[in-house]
Amino acid sequence: MLIILLGPPGAGKGTQAERLVKKFNLAYIATGDILRAAVKSGSPLGQEARIYMEKGQLVPDEVVVGIVSERLTASDCRDGAILDGFPRTVAQAQALDEVLREMGRQIDRVVYIAVDEEELITRLTGRRVCRECAATYHIKFNAPRVRNVCDQCGGELYQREDDSLSTVQERLVVYREQTTPLIDYYGRSDLVTEIDGNGDIEQIFSEISSVFEVESP
Ligand code: ADP
Ligand code: AMP
Repeated sequence: MLIILLGPPGAGKGTQAERLVKKFNLAYIATGDILRAAVKSGSPLGQEARIYMEKGQLVPDEVVVGIVSERLTASDCRDGAILDGFPRTVAQAQALDEVLREMGRQIDRVVYIAVDEEELITRLTGRRVCRECAATYHIKFNAPRVRNVCDQCGGELYQREDDSLSTVQERLVVYREQTTPLIDYYGRSDLVTEIDGNGDIEQIFSEISSVFEVESP
């Protein structure tokens, strides 16, 4: 089972993926997490990616396509994976189609999580992330039991640099211009299920789980 979580920054893709990978025992491929790990390590990839990420812009297609193509060949992705934050441009989607065709695989479903823009800004500016395991929290909507401490691993929570208001606004423009065309791109193959992502985290989880259950072998 190969499922893409599509939606604007702050839609709740990571929050839902965290729960879905546990429930359905799937591999998780979040390009944002992979790129942030590369930035942290100071590798050449990280040094290049950082320039784009801190401005709220997209890292070049060939860089992320390379990362995902390689990741998909790992053994944990054999039975299924959730893609979060990839693809983000039509060129990435076309490259993914090609990679999957060569592997004899296909996308089973694209879950598009739709959320109002005002809500996205509130969510992103209040987001906190674990430095150790990348689990996601919100200071009001999904607060950790102990302030700034990850419930899952005890790691320290931090605010992503690109979650500042000005960078969030830029990321929303980038999303509108470069990523929304994917709704049509996948819509043409009838792959898209739209979920209203404005509600309660657990309610949305239950709705997305029903979509996954239909796709499960
Ligand atoms: P994405 O991965 O799509 O960028 P996240 O999953 O990181 O989004 O969620 C963004 C922020 O919104 C996080 O702080 C998260 O805790 C919070 N959040 C996620 N889903 C909801 C929801 N349904 N209601 C309120 N807050 C949410
Ligand atoms: P995210 O964690 O998904 O919000 O991504 C954080 C940042 O990483 C984005 O603003 C981009 O700079 C970069 N990024 C993540 N995924 C991609 C992608 N598929 N294509 C290009 N850049 C990406």
